[in-house]
Amino acid sequence: TAHFDINAIRQQFPALDQQSNGQPLVYLDSAATTQKPHAVIDTIRHYYSSQNANVHRGSHSLTASATTQFEQAREVVRAFINASDSKEVIWTRGATEALNLIAQSYARSTLQPGDEILVSEMEHHANIVPWQMVAEQTGAKVLKIPMLPDCTLDMTAFAELLGPRTKIVAVAHVSNVTGTRHPIEAIIEAAHRAGAIAVIDGAQAVAHEPVDVQALDADFYVFSGHKIFAPTGIGALYGKRALLETMPPWHGGGKMVEKVSFDGTTYSQLPGKFEAGTPNVAGSLAMAAAIRWLEEQDRTAAEQHIHALRQRAIDGISAIDDLRILGLQPDTSLFSFVVDGVHHQDIATLLDQQGVALRAGHHCAHPMMDALGVSGTLRVSIALYNTEQDIDQFIAALHKACSLL
Ligand code: PMP
Repeated sequence: TAHFDINAIRQQFPALDQQSNGQPLVYLDSAATTQKPHAVIDTIRHYYSSQNANVHRGSHSLTASATTQFEQAREVVRAFINASDSKEVIWTRGATEALNLIAQSYARSTLQPGDEILVSEMEHHANIVPWQMVAEQTGAKVLKIPMLPDCTLDMTAFAELLGPRTKIVAVAHVSNVTGTRHPIEAIIEAAHRAGAIAVIDGAQAVAHEPVDVQALDADFYVFSGHKIFAPTGIGALYGKRALLETMPPWHGGGKMVEKVSFDGTTYSQLPGKFEAGTPNVAGSLAMAAAIRWLEEQDRTAAEQHIHALRQRAIDGISAIDDLRILGLQPDTSLFSFVVDGVHHQDIATLLDQQGVALRAGHHCAHPMMDALGVSGTLRVSIALYNTEQDIDQFIAALHKACSLL
């Protein structure tokens, strides 16, 4: 479209401009991690070239400036998800660490034996295992919200599972396997009616749709920077202030304390209480740069572009013998498929030899693979920097791979 200049976008991602195994690289693995635009790479370079200092500590100009930028970056994240207060944004290493923080601070300090945590069957391991760990520690139980054959959640079963013992409901906003967009608005509302809190794993959502945590009324919402064009090792936890205020710290160290003495230690206010130790300052600044970059794009046009490319890919491969797309969803950025009788890894290897990078495997979602009755899938995930040529090279490569296997 006129608004959407794919060439201009692509030029901002240096990593896309390379060969892989003698072919132009076709990067269809953005759900695993996105490539980074110059705006982000330059922010990191600039930070370490001229701004680097520890934050919230010393008393010189460089540290004061780094601290200001670090807190401004938090404000960028706050605005990105429309939290009401930047104190509700906690820096983490990513979605995984944020979910562990909720489990080990909120859940560990509130759950009683017999309490129930409802977790969808379609979750990434990052939104399952931390709950199993805290269940073990507290005597609570993890119950699964089952999936229907079309790879959507069984909302009837969910309604039946909800009860007075339900304390936490944890679901993804968007599935990393099928791109299923869960009805989190309804899930959050139902959780609240049952007296439970709702934890939303937004790792696959934030790159593709504007999120408003206040409109959603989510209690916690987590995501990773590296899936929205920022570096690895940085992410964010949003939590309602009233919850965060009552939660105990989980990591101990510098910055999370007010006063340390061997007679007893008092803890910092939010957000410092949950940010022990020297943070990933460059990562925070780069995450803010990534968000600013994303918000400068025409996001509606970008999604239309992504959906059109996905449809092109699906149309181009659907005639392949024994190929099945699993739980095909409308208007999303990714899809998973299998070719019956052929191992997914063998296909991925042949695609890789033709320059096509995608993810083959269980996608850190063993329970969902079990529910689907497969050991793994191939996943095509598309970002705004992908082109029709990428898709056509993928289609040709897959036809060739399947004819060889
Ligand atoms: N949840 C979902 C839905 C994901 O796709 C991922 C990343 N694959 C994660 C959680 C974990 O994110 P990270 O590894 O960045 O902590």
